[in-house]
Amino acid sequence: MKITRKAYAKINLGLDVIGKRDDGYHLVKMIMQNVDIYDTLTFEDTKDGEITLISADDGVPTDASNLICRAALQLKETFSVDKGVRIELEKRIPIAAGMAGGSTDAAAAYLALNELWGLSLSKEDLCRMAVKLGADIPYCIVGGTALSEGIGEVLSPVDNKAEYQLVVAKPDIAVSTGWVYTELDSHEIKSHPDIDGVKSAIEAGDVRGICEKIGNVLEPVTVSKYPVITDIEKLLEDNGAVRAFMTGSGPTVFAVYDDSKKAAKGYEAVKRSGLARQFFLTKPIDPGQ
Ligand code: ATP
Repeated sequence: MKITRKAYAKINLGLDVIGKRDDGYHLVKMIMQNVDIYDTLTFEDTKDGEITLISADDGVPTDASNLICRAALQLKETFSVDKGVRIELEKRIPIAAGMAGGSTDAAAAYLALNELWGLSLSKEDLCRMAVKLGADIPYCIVGGTALSEGIGEVLSPVDNKAEYQLVVAKPDIAVSTGWVYTELDSHEIKSHPDIDGVKSAIEAGDVRGICEKIGNVLEPVTVSKYPVITDIEKLLEDNGAVRAFMTGSGPTVFAVYDDSKKAAKGYEAVKRSGLARQFFLTKPIDPGQ
C-alpha cells in the first residue's frame, strides 16, 4: 500500500512566552495557523522491517535524526510493528525557518503510518506520543487555526473567520530554535502581546484587528542578530501590507494583506529586493476542511 500526504507549514499569529518549567521547557501562548506551503510525503510499506527515507533536498538529514524517522521508529517500537516503510520527502517548506517544517513532516508520518500499519490510534493517542518528540508536533497533527499553550501541546481550536493573503519571505539564514530560546532567557521581555485579543479578532474576521494585536516576544532576540528581518518587514509594509511579522523563532517574515493585488505587488517587491532567498505568495489554510 502507498499513502501520499501533504504536510503544511505554519505561521504564528502572535507568540508569547509566559514562564518556564522546571525541566527548562518554556511555557508559551501562541496562535498557530497553517499556510498553503507544504512538503509532500509518500509512504510505502515494505516487508524488510527497515525505515528508509529519501529526499532530493541536500538540506535535510535522511538518517535516523530526521523527525520523520524518529516518529516512525517510535511507532514501530511501541507497537512491535514487523513491517518497514520507504518514505519519499519532497521538501518545499523552508528549513530552520520558524515554519515547523520538521514537526509537520513528523505529524504526516504519525498520521500515515497509523493507517499504513493498521494501528487504529486516535489523534489524541498520536498527539500524546508526538509531544515526546517535539512540542509543535501535536498542533501539526490537528492543524488549522489553534491557540497553543503549555509547552505547545495544550491546543484549543479557533474559529477562523478572517480572509487575507500572505507574502512569506525567508532571508538566506538558518536560525536554531534552541539558540533563540536560550538567548531569550538573558533578554527582558518588555511587552507581552495580546494573544486573547488576536484570537477574538480572528473569530470576528477582523484582519486589521489581528494585525494590531500580533506580537512575537522572540522577534527582538532574532532581530538583534539578523537585522535583515526588519528590512524585509519594512519593505513589505511599504508595499501594501497591513503589517509584517516574524514567525516562530524566525527568520521567516510573513506579511498580511487585505487585498490580493497589493499582495502580488508585495511579492514582486520582495522577489526583486534580493533580501530574501525563498518567497511565497500564499494564504491561510485549514487542511481539515
Ligand atoms: P520550528 O518552527 O518548529 O522551530 P523550524 O522551521 O525552525 O521549526 P525545521 O525546518 O524543522 O526548523 O528544521 C530544524 C532542523 O531540524 C534542521 O536544520 C534539520 O537538521 C532538522 N530536521 C529534522 N527533520 C527534519 C525535517 N523533516 N525537515 C526539516 N528539517 C529537519
